[in-house]
Amino acid sequence: MKTKKSIVKGEWIKFSKSKIHSNGGFAAKNIPKNTRIIEYVGNLITKKEAEKIADREIARHKRNSKNGAVYLFDLNKKYDIDGNVSWNPAKNINHSCNPNAEFDVKEGRVWIVAIKNIKKGEEITYDYGYDIENWQDHSCKCGSKNCVGYIIGQEDWDKFKEMGHKSEK
Ligand SMILES: [Zn+2]
Repeated sequence: MKTKKSIVKGEWIKFSKSKIHSNGGFAAKNIPKNTRIIEYVGNLITKKEAEKIADREIARHKRNSKNGAVYLFDLNKKYDIDGNVSWNPAKNINHSCNPNAEFDVKEGRVWIVAIKNIKKGEEITYDYGYDIENWQDHSCKCGSKNCVGYIIGQEDWDKFKEMGHKSEK
């Protein structure tokens, strides 16, 4: 089952090579705070299917010792979105420890929304919100002053620091 394709694609955001990781999303023009920049679309899957995908991805990345990329979004109690599909350009948006956007789940749809005024050409980033389990799998190269070195949701930063980690810079 597919979610609806994004209709705002390409309006606020364009995709090109990023210093953070692979391709990233960049502001195509000045974006005011609270703008819905793009919809995060994908296949609707059950929580069970999502668990399987996550386990498989983690195992695969351990073998390759590469940075992992998991594209699962918690939609509601029953379903997740698996955004790892060619028709979801929003999957290219990178994580940052100092993001200028966030994801917002409303009525079964996921949006990437600006939390600051974003200038034309700036890279658009949001907090992936990964939990602290398997933190070693995802190193962060966002370059922010407050970067903790790994892709970990800010909710878990205190826990991470209690474990004896400091910000890299
Ligand atoms: Zn970072």
